[in-house]
Amino acid sequence: MRFTLSHIIDGAPVGGAATVAIVNPSDTGDIVAIAPTGDADDMLAAIASAQAAFGSWSRSGLIERHDILRRAAAEMMDRRAELGALLSREEGKIVAEGVGEVLRAAQTLEFFAGDMLRLGGEAGPSVRPNVSVQVTREPLGIIGVITPWNFPFSIPAWKIGPALAWGNCVIFKPAANTPACAYEFVRIFLRAGLPPGVLNLVLGRGAAVGDTLCRHAAVAGVSFTGSVETGARIAAACAASSPPKRLQMEMGGKNPMIVLDDADLDRAVEGAVSGSFYSTGQRCTASSRLIVTPSIRKRFVAAMVERMAALKIGHALDAYSQIGPLASADQLALVDGYVVAGKGEGAKVAAGGGPLVCRTPGYYYAPTLFVDTAPGMRIARDEIFGPVACVIEASNYEHALALANDTSFGLSAAIYTESLARAEHFKRNAEAGMVMGNLPTSGADYHVPFGGRKASSFGPREQGATAREFYSIVKTAYTYASPTV
Ligand code: NAD
Repeated sequence: MRFTLSHIIDGAPVGGAATVAIVNPSDTGDIVAIAPTGDADDMLAAIASAQAAFGSWSRSGLIERHDILRRAAAEMMDRRAELGALLSREEGKIVAEGVGEVLRAAQTLEFFAGDMLRLGGEAGPSVRPNVSVQVTREPLGIIGVITPWNFPFSIPAWKIGPALAWGNCVIFKPAANTPACAYEFVRIFLRAGLPPGVLNLVLGRGAAVGDTLCRHAAVAGVSFTGSVETGARIAAACAASSPPKRLQMEMGGKNPMIVLDDADLDRAVEGAVSGSFYSTGQRCTASSRLIVTPSIRKRFVAAMVERMAALKIGHALDAYSQIGPLASADQLALVDGYVVAGKGEGAKVAAGGGPLVCRTPGYYYAPTLFVDTAPGMRIARDEIFGPVACVIEASNYEHALALANDTSFGLSAAIYTESLARAEHFKRNAEAGMVMGNLPTSGADYHVPFGGRKASSFGPREQGATAREFYSIVKTAYTYASPTV
């Protein structure tokens, strides 16, 4: 089935003159959708619609918003098999991961439906006599939500869920290669009863529609997830707009996973395989640097190679596949470019190392393990965003910690050890927003904050109760009342 998509502005479908065909990365002969590529005028229409909707939506009752989020979550849960298959067909992750992601999106919406009912404020006496003080949170305004393609259901859920819960209007600009998931996401909210204009969808390329969104004076905040390079452009555009915008950015990672001599080898290997290669390694939290101490290194590499030989790579919708293709031809070229560079710099390929041919023509790549990787090599420093991990040898725990922190990124960091003291030390000293003990760097909960340090993140944390810091604005109200009546 081929979907014909549109923008959704003011609750209605809006077509576009220029369109693009969205190809299934597992089978390039399969066209998933035809999507419009929007322009600045489409974005301006969406912003005008959000401006018109904001007044009544921002004053809507908590229960109205709560019920809409719950109904949207329920539809996602009910349709998770169908939507998960669409996600897999469009993005390329295997169908079990696609279904799991839709379920996660629904759970995230459920969380924010509940969390908004717990929104309280503070009240207390002023430092001045006969004056009371109230601190409350109000909606921020119109929010631009700009998302990547690698989690086309769950990232929109963790941004748009809290934005709507706290009474904001949203302009949603998804990645250009996953418009069908975005279109379904928005239509679910409209069916759930969201008034026209509260959530608008504008499809197209970032430089055209995304840039207009970031520069528009009526947009109060932009929540972005994507690459560091795009983040820099978005930050510049937001800074140039007047009045200044609130900005939240979640970006790349080059996440270290330390395996110490005393680690549970089987657990570490399972963690490294899933953290490095599942979702085809296209996760900002992927375990891409495996930092290993000397006594376990040989056994770890041998076990990894054996385990990787058993991985089944194939069409995302085939039940036996454990790893699907890369998301696009561009991703394939990028990943292969890094693997070629790694070989050129002197790292050795222990497993994988090139594209794969499967039963259908697609962007398949063999999960790849580099050994003899020096920490200064490009494969050890840049985010590759594919199924590529490199083993870096450390002489001891202190050296491993120094290597782990020697990166411009700071999203997630993991350690495998049976030593409580080392695990605790690592938790305190890892320069990362999320730290894992005997777990891979990937895999986070939705009810607690998510985000990183250094080049990985900017602005308030996403998810959990801290999400309100971005999506609401504080008001402090003082009232004088005479002590006599
Ligand atoms: P990308 O930066 O190329 O694009 C992200 C989004 O920004 C897309 O919607 C794109 O159209 C838009 N965009 C591009 N240029 C723009 C501009 N000038 N103005 C406004 N919008 C613009 O990223 P991608 O390739 O879609 O995703 C991969 C990246 O996302 C990786 O670096 C990955 O680490 C990161 N990521 C981070 C997290 C996290 O939470 N830290 C999660 C998932 C992905």
